Amino acid sequence: MTQHADILIIGGGMVGMALACVLAKAGFEVHVVEEKPPTPFAPEQALDLRVSAVSLASENLLDAAGAWMHVLNLRATPFRRMRVWDAAGFGDTRFDSREIGEPFLGHIVENRLLQLALWQAAAGLDDVHLHCPVHLESLDISSSHVRARLSDGQTVQARLLVGADGARSRVRELANIGLTSWDYDVEALVATVKTHAPQQDITWQRFTPAGPQALLPLPGQHASLVWYQSPDETASLLALDEVTFLAELCRAFPSELGKIEALQGRGSFKLTRRHAQVYAKPRLVLAGDAAHTIHPLAGQGVNLGFMDVAALAETLIAARVRNQDIGALHVLQSYERKRRGENLLMQTGMDVFHHLFKPSRGSLPLLRSAALALAQNVPPLKRMLTRRATGREGDVPRIARGGRLS
Ligand SMILES: Cc1cc2nc3c(=O)[nH]c(=O)nc-3n(C[C@H](O)[C@H](O)[C@H](O)COP(=O)(O)OP(=O)(O)OC[C@H]3O[C@@H](n4cnc5c(N)ncnc54)[C@H](O)[C@@H]3O)c2cc1C
Repeated sequence: MTQHADILIIGGGMVGMALACVLAKAGFEVHVVEEKPPTPFAPEQALDLRVSAVSLASENLLDAAGAWMHVLNLRATPFRRMRVWDAAGFGDTRFDSREIGEPFLGHIVENRLLQLALWQAAAGLDDVHLHCPVHLESLDISSSHVRARLSDGQTVQARLLVGADGARSRVRELANIGLTSWDYDVEALVATVKTHAPQQDITWQRFTPAGPQALLPLPGQHASLVWYQSPDETASLLALDEVTFLAELCRAFPSELGKIEALQGRGSFKLTRRHAQVYAKPRLVLAGDAAHTIHPLAGQGVNLGFMDVAALAETLIAARVRNQDIGALHVLQSYERKRRGENLLMQTGMDVFHHLFKPSRGSLPLLRSAALALAQNVPPLKRMLTRRATGREGDVPRIARGGRLS
């Protein structure tokens, strides 16, 4: 059986479902294919290991999607301050939302709950049709439409197909879109912990000779810790029993964290930078991790994906107003032009940070402390960096600035 849609999105994760909601609210008929539904929420559930620092610009986008109120009703932790310092040097930068006239810098939200909130928003929209648990099997692209064959035997025909199916995108592969990619020589070890004292409204990043460490505050007395180290060191730490692992965290992390009382989860993530060689082909376009992945040092991955959503939605709405074909290559390339440079800039910025803060000898330690001290002591530079962290600086799509959908 063939179903018809304006737009077919492969991947109902955070990026795919945000796009579906925004486009349906703008009047497009959208189908979404997702292979794994998110687990429903219960307040007594343990906190998820995967969390994201959601910027103010992303909050605006999620609000336009009708999902931000659901996020706040589930679980989210606001943060007002951010501190970045060099444990082996003198650099210490402290950001505060009041310096840019904002109540917060952002919120920490569990990825699953962010996805769930978007699914709740989508459930209230007649024009979002969900195929789940179903995956994409094959694609047939013609000059006037794209047909996708799904694992449940159904076929969906649409004017445009969006690949929002994550870093290992099947859509990207089926469309023969190449990648520029490399693995970082570090992995992210992530642990959810319960601390003696409640966490405050601050996230921090500390650079140590053993690799960068970060803390993201979670509700009550919980925090998410991230420790970037070599794959061998990460594997040795994960092989420790819980008591020894906890003792190791207490020894390695700074006193700012407070006493760690319990470990609630741990795991590791391999870090790879990827950039699709093109985002757009006739009738097909990529968004989110399917188009780009980034070093998570500054927690910008899904925020870049949400800005792709805002830019793509604006592009498609404008094309409809001008009576243009939403699957035409020149329309989709105008979305790519809006996003490629911004995504590349952030990827490159994270690479500079990664290399600057790697354990090193020579003049690098001096250079990195000097860079942090400069950011702390030059107010216009600090305000610019704070605004960039909140997604308020750069080529920000109108929807992400709080503008209307059309
Ligand atoms: C350690 C770590 C920490 C991070 N911290 C942050 C942070 O603080 N802030 C931040 O902004 N980002 C962070 N990120 C990045 C962030 O997690 C990703 O950018 C984000 O998950 C990308 O969302 P997405 O929707 O594009 O892809 P995904 O989350 O991968 O979603 C893709 C969806 O597509 C579905 N799918 C895949 N293939 C198919 C198919 N063939 N058919 C149907 N469905 C399919 C999947 O089931 C999934 O639901 C971090 C990443 C790491 C590794």
